[in-house]
Amino acid sequence: MSGRSYQVRTFGCQMNVHDSERLAGLLESAGYVPVAEGSDADIVVFNTCAVRENADNRLYGNLGHLYPAKKKNPAMQIAVGGCLAQKDRSVIRDRAPWVDVVFGTHNLHRLPVLLERARHNAAAQVEIAEALEVFPSSLPARRASQHSAWVSISVGCDNTCTFCIVPSLRGGERDRRPGDVLAEVEALVAEGALEITLLGQNVNSYGRSLGDPGAFARLLRACGRVEGLERVRFTSPHPRDFTDDVIEAMALTPNVCPQLHMPLQSGSDAVLRRMRRSYRRDRFLGIVERVRAAMPDAAITTDIIVGFPGETEADFADTLDLVRTARFAGAFTFKYSPRPGTPAAEMDGEVDPAVVSERYERLASLQDEMSWAGNRAQVGRQVEILVSEGEGRKDSETGRLSGRARDGRLVHLLVTGPHAEDGVVRPGDVIETVVTRGAPHHLTADGPLLSHRRTRAGDAWEAARSRGAAGDRTTGEGTAGDGTAGEGTAGAAAGAGRPAVALGMPTMRPSSPASR
Ligand code: SAM
Ligand code: SF4
Repeated sequence: MSGRSYQVRTFGCQMNVHDSERLAGLLESAGYVPVAEGSDADIVVFNTCAVRENADNRLYGNLGHLYPAKKKNPAMQIAVGGCLAQKDRSVIRDRAPWVDVVFGTHNLHRLPVLLERARHNAAAQVEIAEALEVFPSSLPARRASQHSAWVSISVGCDNTCTFCIVPSLRGGERDRRPGDVLAEVEALVAEGALEITLLGQNVNSYGRSLGDPGAFARLLRACGRVEGLERVRFTSPHPRDFTDDVIEAMALTPNVCPQLHMPLQSGSDAVLRRMRRSYRRDRFLGIVERVRAAMPDAAITTDIIVGFPGETEADFADTLDLVRTARFAGAFTFKYSPRPGTPAAEMDGEVDPAVVSERYERLASLQDEMSWAGNRAQVGRQVEILVSEGEGRKDSETGRLSGRARDGRLVHLLVTGPHAEDGVVRPGDVIETVVTRGAPHHLTADGPLLSHRRTRAGDAWEAARSRGAAGDRTTGEGTAGDGTAGEGTAGAAAGAGRPAVALGMPTMRPSSPASR
């Protein structure tokens, strides 16, 4: 395959973004090369999402756009994988017969073989497995960033939230052994990573399938012992399984960041019951309180669904009330989207779309107010920033760099004097400065640089740049806490764009552009 170029376009959550790193790694192991920026790829792979309906629409829109290119160049190949492929299977070929390969969530590793077979037989290949064949973490990866890496601790989910299609597409929870997770973390750190984000649909139930319910807290503590690992994050915890030993491990493990993304979904107990989310608002608020008691500066963010079947104005008022009480640093707010096959899709009580939109706007403005107040309270604080690449769309115009504070907040900062010269402060380096302004979705730090630490991650970035391969190699458009509003592109030319999914802190509503 040598010389054939590829591009992976990612829709969806962090799991998908990380799966795309594996798909890119597999393709490169098979001899494909990342497409040069501005060129057409020989192979376009869509890694899809099915969590909400708009993800379906986006995929078919994108496939339609590629049709003229495929007609002009029949040797070009199009592959569709991930959750929507698992759900729609041969429907994808019915709706877009120019697709060459369809593969599911359980058989990512088959992509190179399926592409080769489609080419050799001149016939489309549709292969969906019913159960996980190879744990994706055992596949090669082409990581999007030198300094921050995703590490999967589990795949699938054993919960039965009535709105959610994930368990039917990803299967039940399968946990990796802690030793394997730690070995991957150590290997990443040895390659230069300073930050890792542990990934799972419900990280708090990690270990149950291994007969070890306390395993997640122990894993956090073990990450604390990895020499050179500076920042540990995780997503997503489930309030039902969130135990105090995890809060304690977070607070007592210095490299675990003071940040928590904990999906709420609704502030109404009646709605939570119908969602089959088996915690209630008091339990959720209790966790928030205990996290704040243990880590007063923790930035807590969440996901909320508006317009779940039967949601009344009183239910919605409970959600607004909880948002005010919890003082979230950010939230991803979603309009409920019925997913065929899920219990909620069969429920009575559909909320009028105009009412859903109006509630959505009210919730989003309240959350913006809360986020802004939280960010204004940061003014004057000293922050440590891990410099990143591609997170500040306007950086080249404003002469700023961007990065994340330890609590996950996005910071745009001005660097002046000798530090402003190209290559002095590199992505992956760590700086300390003071916050000078809080905007609703980011902080600005235009004060003097208090310190600059050149790091192994910065060295790795510089070495990659000199090989012509620097920069975030997974690039793309949107960013969202659960990432489902995001679309990223792996295999685009080195150095272009921004990470497909920002680590941690939600910085925008899915429907609004990131503001600065
Ligand atoms: N496992 C995570 C949890 O339980 O918190 C969330 C995974 S899901 C991919 C990410 C988010 O998408 C959820 O937290 C929920 O807010 C949202 N979501 C899932 N299904 C949805 C639906 N049918 N309609 C609207 N939003 C949905
Ligand atoms: Fe879906 Fe998350 Fe509920 Fe699992 S815990 S069913 S992934 S929303």
